[in-house]
Amino acid sequence: MTRSPGSLDAAALAAVLVGVCDAMAESISDLTHADQAVGDGDHGLAIQRGTRAARQALLDTPGDGDVGSLFEAFGLAMLTSMGGASGAIYGTLFRRGGARLRGETSFDAQGLATFLDGALAGVRERGGASVGDKTLVDALQPASEAAVSAGSSSLAEALDAAAGAARAGVERTRDLPATLGRARTLGDRAIGHVDPGALSLALLLTAWADAVRRWEPTT
Ligand code: ADP
Ligand code: MG
Repeated sequence: MTRSPGSLDAAALAAVLVGVCDAMAESISDLTHADQAVGDGDHGLAIQRGTRAARQALLDTPGDGDVGSLFEAFGLAMLTSMGGASGAIYGTLFRRGGARLRGETSFDAQGLATFLDGALAGVRERGGASVGDKTLVDALQPASEAAVSAGSSSLAEALDAAAGAARAGVERTRDLPATLGRARTLGDRAIGHVDPGALSLALLLTAWADAVRRWEPTT
């Protein structure tokens, strides 16, 4: 059995995030169905475009060993490829989370907490949503809080905690009416369906935790 790493350098983090992008390919049709229920059905395709572009950016950019600029490149690729509300939201999430880690050469549980805190602040400023508005914030805020509580755990444990909290947040969106974004026109008719953006974030964090557990040095 391999021991999961306590921290990753920028090159290892890039390899892990490529794995996350690959894993998201399996969730595209679930996200399409989720957005067909409460929106216009394009969230699966948006995530497909965003993760493909981000994957390519990770492979194309030599990287300068800086964890923050890695996340910022990831976010820029999402922003410019996805379009729609979620392109702006995901672009902001990765770029603002990454901005907090500029100058860091390794990524650990503490770095995850810092990243998610910056991401949450950015997304809340950009989109104006709070918990309970049935958006991605319903998954991101509990994930950020769980990462802070995870404190000095291993990176994989902290990611597990964040992903678990995000999945619980997704389930809570099921009982909420839609008040923001495209789904707002549905209002109470959105009750019974989870928010697609909250779902994609929870799936991404889950894939991230799995990819860190699977990661092994290539030397
Ligand atoms: P669009 O709404 O343009 O069709 P997508 O379907 O790709 O874009 O993404 C919809 C998701 O974007 C929603 O489920 C929600 O989670 C997220 N979203 C939309 N508006 C906001 C906002 N103001 N703040 C946070 N997340 C938002
Ligand atoms: Mg949509």
